[in-house]
Amino acid sequence: MSFTTDQIYKWLEEVKDPEIPVLSLVDLGVITSVTIHNNAVEIEMTPTFVGCPALDIMQQEIKTALMARGIASVNVSVNFRQPWTSDRISEKGKKALKQFGLAPPQDAIFSDIDMLEHVPCPKCNGTDTELKNVFGPTLCRSIHYCNTCREAFEQFKPIH
Ligand SMILES: [Zn+2]
Repeated sequence: MSFTTDQIYKWLEEVKDPEIPVLSLVDLGVITSVTIHNNAVEIEMTPTFVGCPALDIMQQEIKTALMARGIASVNVSVNFRQPWTSDRISEKGKKALKQFGLAPPQDAIFSDIDMLEHVPCPKCNGTDTELKNVFGPTLCRSIHYCNTCREAFEQFKPIH
């Protein structure tokens, strides 16, 4: 059987972030390279955080997904040569986060304070919001409160 790099990326879109089941690893931007040697595939990934949980699970799920497609050998290596930033999340990924009820990370044009103090609410898009806790249920998320909806929401924290 033969396959292309594009096909591998398509297949990898089925592998979701274990904590955010609507977001694929491809849209999260953690897959940094795909190399094909005959019937073996070499995947390189850069996780969102050093020590972010679920790295082992992600590696295993990548292997399982690709081997289910008939690829004989899948090797997943991790590198931190170029740190992951939240700018690597695709537009599709940001939409998925918002639908999931998580505010997508803000672009780097905002100052650090604005990024955390007036995060647009994923429900009403209003910016009358305030930071409640820099660390949410995981290191990757912060907790905010929307004064319009009168509800708390989480943001996938920007990292630049
Ligand atoms: Zn709101």
